[in-house]
This record gives sequence, structure tokens and C-alpha cells, in this order.
Amino acid sequence: MTCALCSNEDSCEIDLEGANATLLLCEICTEGLQAPLEDSPHWHCLHDAIWSTEGATQIAAYRVLSNLDHAPWARDLMEIAYLDPDRLAAAQNIAEPALIHRDSNGVQLSSGDTVVLIKDLPVKGAGFTAKRGTAVRNISLVADNAGHIEGRVENQRIVILTAFVKKS
Ligand SMILES: [Zn+2]
Repeated sequence: MTCALCSNEDSCEIDLEGANATLLLCEICTEGLQAPLEDSPHWHCLHDAIWSTEGATQIAAYRVLSNLDHAPWARDLMEIAYLDPDRLAAAQNIAEPALIHRDSNGVQLSSGDTVVLIKDLPVKGAGFTAKRGTAVRNISLVADNAGHIEGRVENQRIVILTAFVKKS
């Protein structure tokens, strides 16, 4: 039972999230998949692993390299490495943490909630001010920005900063 990346004897089977594959990895290499890393001689194993004929090994090697991409050698290796398109897509298929929208009190907001404005908000381009205390019903969350929601005020759909609302 040797590690697919570094051949360390002490390894166990790991699920590669988002890649529908498993492989044997030692503790160090498993950690290498999780978060940005310090460069260390351990990672020289990736020079071989990135050329593996095993898909799961290549995917894992690519992900560890992504966590080392501050190191010039790792960036170079990612550039010259060839992964077939399916493997590359799997290697890059790492779940983004979902954005959580929170009101001014830190309460989580959901689509469909009603919120109340906690200050007067001039609405750019619409020529009115949404008054403090106005209830905005049936909000929607802006998918790529945790600081923005959308809702109707005076029959206009506007973007509102979550910092200026309170869930009611
Ligand atoms: Zn290892």
C-alpha cells in the first residue's frame, strides 16, 4: 500500500472529491490536496506523478501543484504537464465554498426572505431614496457576491447591500 504520489509506505485510500475516483495517499500528500502549501523537497515526487498513466494520480498531482503555485517550478510543471481534457476538468473541479449572505446582524439570508432597510438608501439612477424602515419582500441573493441582494422598492428592482438590511 504505497502512496500514489510519493511512494511512502504508510498510506490509505482517499476519495478524490469531484473526480469520482479514489487513490492511496500518505498523510502528507493528503494534506497537500487541502490548502496552499509550503514548498518542500517532499513535493519533488510530483515531477513523476504528474506523468502517471493513472487518472486519479494525475488529478491528485495536479491539485497539489495548484496548492504550490507560488513556487516557480510547480507553475512550470503545470504548464508542461499534459492531462487529457476530462482529467484536467476533474482536476479543476473543486467545489467553491458556497457564498453565505448575512444581514447587518450576521443572520443568514435566504432567497424569498423579507428584510427591512436600516438606513436611508439613495437609489442611483432611479431618483428616489429608499427610506429606512422600508420592508423589502421576497428578496433574491446575488449569486456571486455575498454582500448584495436584490429586491423591489417602489416597484423598481434594486441591488441592496446586505450591510444595510435586517431580516424581519
Ligand atoms: Zn505521499
